[in-house]
Amino acid sequence: MRTSKEYLDKLSKMRPNIYIDGKCVGRDHPKIIHASNAIQLTFDKANDPEFSKWLTATSHRSGKPINRFNHIHQSPEDLLLKQEMTRKLCNLMGGCIQRCMGADSMNGLSVITKNCDLKYGTDYHERWLKYLDYFQENDLICAASQTDSKGDRRKRPAEQEDPDMYLHVVERREDGVVVSGAKLHNTMAPYADELIAFPTRALGKNETDYAIAFAIPADTEGVYLISRQAFSIEREENMKAPYTELGDIESMTVFDRVFVPNERIFLNGETDMGGQLALMFALYHRHSYCGCKPGVGDVITGTTALIAEYNGTDKMDHTKDVLADMISVAELVYAAGIASSVTSSKAPSGTQVPNVIYANVGRRHAGHNMYHEYEHLCDIAGGLPATLPLTPEYNNPDIGDFVRKYTKRRVDIPEENHYRAYHLASDILTGEFGAAILIAGVHGGGSPIMEDIAILGSYDLQGKKKLAKYLAGINGD
Ligand SMILES: Cc1cc2nc3c(=O)[nH]c(=O)nc-3n(C[C@H](O)[C@H](O)[C@H](O)COP(=O)(O)OP(=O)(O)OC[C@H]3O[C@@H](n4cnc5c(N)ncnc54)[C@H](O)[C@@H]3O)c2cc1C
Repeated sequence: MRTSKEYLDKLSKMRPNIYIDGKCVGRDHPKIIHASNAIQLTFDKANDPEFSKWLTATSHRSGKPINRFNHIHQSPEDLLLKQEMTRKLCNLMGGCIQRCMGADSMNGLSVITKNCDLKYGTDYHERWLKYLDYFQENDLICAASQTDSKGDRRKRPAEQEDPDMYLHVVERREDGVVVSGAKLHNTMAPYADELIAFPTRALGKNETDYAIAFAIPADTEGVYLISRQAFSIEREENMKAPYTELGDIESMTVFDRVFVPNERIFLNGETDMGGQLALMFALYHRHSYCGCKPGVGDVITGTTALIAEYNGTDKMDHTKDVLADMISVAELVYAAGIASSVTSSKAPSGTQVPNVIYANVGRRHAGHNMYHEYEHLCDIAGGLPATLPLTPEYNNPDIGDFVRKYTKRRVDIPEENHYRAYHLASDILTGEFGAAILIAGVHGGGSPIMEDIAILGSYDLQGKKKLAKYLAGINGD
């Protein structure tokens, strides 16, 4: 397993193809190093005995210890540990741990490459296994590039006026393919070793060029990572806190005639499998959300409870209602992930697949409640999160004492603690940090409508109608 230093050293040697603040920069740019803090934590904790139960697993290929984010789930226990690990790490960072996407893509590919070989006699699974060995041996970080730019939402990929609206093959060669298109919303692509690209939706029989899945180094010729810092949490040095270490860079990842060699192609033209891969990745990712969303919920609930305590409103009935509501959301989502793990099943590849209904209802419940959780924090915290004087004023010798005096509530609690708690609430409710978490909480892993589609597509609604007919005494029709 790598250390975070080895990870950063490798990044610094990659070809600069990241555009940020109007310039093309290398992966040693301070904003990129800061954003990679969450990923660095996943290396550090894997090497920390206190966390190794969650952060490490035994490779079913090599029998060696590997980072759990690079593991292919072999049992319900593996799925449970991944979920637990995700919640713990999100708690430590105060937000998204970012490394789940590589794990979820690799697990999706493990299932679908095998299914494709069984149906079409292809050899994708063998190719992919070789890649898996390389991925585990080198403890790689992969970004998942699923969401295409998608153009006009009324039209299918092959119906778009501009064919690049969905990633597709533009040239076929003896030794590989050339692809063009873009993937929007590519979290952590600028600090990933590799990109794993695959379809985002069901494909028609005529859409063979869009049924393409592959992995390439993130600095491959023709790849442009057009990046934006999702948020930065500004604080004077003495007022920094664990959550201000969190960063995130999002990328619009452009593939401009990128060559992909045969050994890195895991699907090429099998349209029905393209749609199944899209769903399989989404399933693993929504199962991960059943760990990370409760982890983020813990942050919002904890902040709400702490502010209520500091304000002296914690024993009031409406505060108790609010807290019970927030706890119920986080724990129901977590429970859905547990249910999805324990009722999981084995794919022909031997990979453990989460239960579709439970993972999707969990993710759906989380997304539907995101704004609601913020509303509760806003209710309990009052107006101060929007008006709190910032740390330069807190530190100013002329007026700092006024800031401390008038932002405190209870005399038995240090003034600085009040200020720190309110700064956290302010960053959640009014800052880029909180806004990014909010939008990711609604759309990451698929917009709410996508969970509805997955649920209705798999649920035994006919069985429920049959039950109603039986109870109503309806025979026939
Ligand atoms: C912060 C963040 C990080 C992300 N990171 C990644 C990442 O690393 N990798 C990755 O692959 N993806 C990532 N995603 C992408 C995420 O999965 C997409 O945002 C999501 O699938 C929605 O796609 P969209 O943003 O293109 O919205 P749209 O497709 O434009 O959807 C917006 C709305 O349009 C409607 N709509 C669209 N299509 C349909 C349809 N077919 N049927 C009915 N209604 C429809 C729905 O109301 C939907 O909510 C990330 C998203 C966010 C917000």
